Amino acid sequence: MMTQLQEKDLRYIWHPCAQMKDYEQFPPKVIVRGEGVWLYDEQGQRYLDAVSSWWVNLFGHANQRLSQVLAQQAQTLEHTIFANFTHLPAIEVAERLVRLTPQGLNKVFFADNGSAAIEVALKMSFQYHAQKNKTRKKRFLALTNAYHGETIGALSVGGVDLYNEVYTPLLLDTVRSQGPDCYRCPFQQQPSHCQAQCIEFVERDLQQHHEEITAVIIEPLIQAAAGMKMYPPIYLKKLRALCTTYDVHLIADEIAVGFGRTGSLFACEQADISPDFLCLSKGITGGYLPLSVVVTTNDVYEAFYDDYQTMKAFLHSHSYTGNTLACRIAQEVLTMFEDENVMDMVQEKGAMLRRQAETAFCDLPYVGEYRQIGLVGAIELVVDKTTKQPFPSEERIGYHIYKEALEKGLLIRPLGNILYFMPPYTITEEEMTFMVTTTKDTLVNFFAERELV
Ligand SMILES: *Cc1c(COP(=O)(O)O)cnc(C)c1O
Repeated sequence: MMTQLQEKDLRYIWHPCAQMKDYEQFPPKVIVRGEGVWLYDEQGQRYLDAVSSWWVNLFGHANQRLSQVLAQQAQTLEHTIFANFTHLPAIEVAERLVRLTPQGLNKVFFADNGSAAIEVALKMSFQYHAQKNKTRKKRFLALTNAYHGETIGALSVGGVDLYNEVYTPLLLDTVRSQGPDCYRCPFQQQPSHCQAQCIEFVERDLQQHHEEITAVIIEPLIQAAAGMKMYPPIYLKKLRALCTTYDVHLIADEIAVGFGRTGSLFACEQADISPDFLCLSKGITGGYLPLSVVVTTNDVYEAFYDDYQTMKAFLHSHSYTGNTLACRIAQEVLTMFEDENVMDMVQEKGAMLRRQAETAFCDLPYVGEYRQIGLVGAIELVVDKTTKQPFPSEERIGYHIYKEALEKGLLIRPLGNILYFMPPYTITEEEMTFMVTTTKDTLVNFFAERELV
């Protein structure tokens, strides 16, 4: 039975990342209120938001502190043109970002969503080399299973076929290198002994193509959209060295993992590296408003700095670039990272999740692996634990498990056969227990019923 609002929704709205026909059987929940990790629908049913509403939320829904500064800012100034004009929240955000991001990242360029930040980094890197007369450099190198967003440039460097394939005729000619795949490691390394031998795939491609490559783009430590595929910091360390050797930029896409997700403020810190471009969005406003930034080096900045007539400026803008409300929230989020022990909280909740999840999932049938970095945990479901054979995607087992968990009040939106936990940092122990046990119950039921048919 659909409610009136659900009927109206289906009549007028085309939802993202969805086959709309599915919605007729499974209409969208109409959410009217949020509080902490919970979302409440029009009938008063609540759902624990274990995916932080597509990885954006850090400190819970309707967070009092963030809502308050937003309301105040809205009554003072909501938005202004960002060319020749500026405002205090943007200045505060930029100063804090330069202080908090890895060394050498000194200039902040504002945009308004993650994909736009990727476009900015790609264009800046290309233009940088063009202005240094390295005109052969016009390709990007990206990894298999990468995800960098949905615009044509961002899709071009993405490597998840599900999102790219139909657009192939439109996409840039990207050098695609085989990325890390720790669960199915081609070198059969134990994680404790891993020296990232698989970096050789990128190394070979750089050796061969470096003269045409302007930048390597990567998701540090976790290839998120591909199914929370995790790899060790040493891979990043080696990649940074290769980029320097071959005179190509390194673009770190921390849109999903930045702002504490991996247990450090930025994932690059764990490899002790600085990229040439750091793309940030999602958590930057704690899940309140769309905002993104590209933080880059003085070296890049200076390649664009000259008399107007040389036409070296970076002529890229978005209407909502540096939006005042979004910047005010980001300022508060960054203040919370500086003034409160947010990283201790992430560490503590991460350890709690690991304890609970390893006990709950490791011995279950069909669970090939439970993996975790920081406060991101993932369960990879397989047909056979020994061969690691995946479930065929037509079976949509993740989707079926998702629907059953929702009935139990848990929002886990899987990626294919991978279920994952990426809750707000403010989740309590009790809420985490609910998240883990509900997932376990759902899995056990689902596979018991599946074996009956
Ligand atoms: C979400 C995401 C993007 C795209 O950001 P949008 O705001 O959705 O355009 C890019 N890269 C990564 C790693 C992401 O997780």
